[in-house]
Amino acid sequence: MVSVFLVGAGPGDPDLLTVKALRLLREADVVLHDSLVGEKILELVSNGARLVDVGKRCGKTSAAQAEICRLLVREAQAGRRVVRLKGGDPMVFGRATEEMDALREAGIAFEVVPGITAATAAASALQISLTRREVARSVHFLTGHGAAGGLPEHDWVALARGGGTLAVYMGAQTLPGLAAHLIEAGMAPEMPALAVESAALPGQRVLRGTLGALPRLLAAAAPSGPVLLLIGQALEDDAVAQGALAAAVAG
Ligand code: SAH
Repeated sequence: MVSVFLVGAGPGDPDLLTVKALRLLREADVVLHDSLVGEKILELVSNGARLVDVGKRCGKTSAAQAEICRLLVREAQAGRRVVRLKGGDPMVFGRATEEMDALREAGIAFEVVPGITAATAAASALQISLTRREVARSVHFLTGHGAAGGLPEHDWVALARGGGTLAVYMGAQTLPGLAAHLIEAGMAPEMPALAVESAALPGQRVLRGTLGALPRLLAAAAPSGPVLLLIGQALEDDAVAQGALAAAVAG
């Protein structure tokens, strides 16, 4: 019998939970959740359940992750119904691998329940298609923060030339370096770029700019919530306006 569920909580708006996630939150004995998971969602957990904040802030060591794995196994072995609640989708920058490995090793059956990831939540909130036809033929999910801290070594040339939409997670701190690498690799400084803070949450803020200008705009805005960066031609204002016009004409 499955006793552990790795559940995606989506971007933070309870309306964006899956029906399955909601059911599991109501049936759980214990919910181990990230700090990113907001109060509104935690209020949906059944009254009798124990809530444990296992949130890891940037910069904490992997010892914290090992501790979460131990806790998951211990709670499941005690016969409890465990929900491991993660922001967005568990399989997108969610450290799910370590937890699944620990559960497999302990012989504990588990299931993964997807959630709406920040990139698609932001795209919907902004009414921008990440795969705008004839403009962007791919989407790349990148992290701006590597395991060793700082900007990871991406294939900048491939990203700059690929012509797809870049969705950068955990990139607020390293945006200046990221933008510099992409420009050096051949991406135009005029490339449309956005920063979305707290997408799909009450504090949502959007900064519109270009790849060259966004680092300064973002630094000046001093965001306090989670920030997703979107870079690519699909985000061009004109393209969006034209799309609306074409839709109106077709309609
Ligand atoms: N598993 C999550 C990502 C976790 S990494 C998902 O699928 O969305 C944490 C990063 O996700 C943050 O640094 C930020 O870049 C992004 N993020 C998560 N929630 C967000 C939100 N509501 N608005 C903007 N970015 C968000």
